[in-house]
Amino acid sequence: MQALSVTPFKEKGNSIIMKEYKEIRNHLIAMLEELNLRLTRITNDVRHVDAPLEKDFSEQATQNENNEVMDYLGNSARTEIEMIKQAIAKIDSGQYGICQQCGEPISKNRLIAMPYADMCIKCAGKAER
Ligand SMILES: [Zn+2]
Repeated sequence: MQALSVTPFKEKGNSIIMKEYKEIRNHLIAMLEELNLRLTRITNDVRHVDAPLEKDFSEQATQNENNEVMDYLGNSARTEIEMIKQAIAKIDSGQYGICQQCGEPISKNRLIAMPYADMCIKCAGKAER
């Protein structure tokens, strides 16, 4: 069988998906911008751009504890940013809304509630157990 070099149907399909998920895509981009802002703020806090490190030992200990929390927040923000970027890439390539486990479509309600979900509710439930 000869492979076709032009795939108009697939492209058409993708554009329909794009239109269907346009709102979710916009929402994801807004989330991404907010997370980037938050991450910048966290990074500035850790680097003590605004507040110099306290010299007093007990206060310094508190400061270090705060840094650990900030590190954690920074890491979770970075993870979230990666998930959002992947979701946007999936929308653009027409792969969005497909469960990574079973290949079934993820319900739109779930995608609206959790735009970067990559598993359907059934598989996500199983994964949690
Ligand atoms: Zn599934």
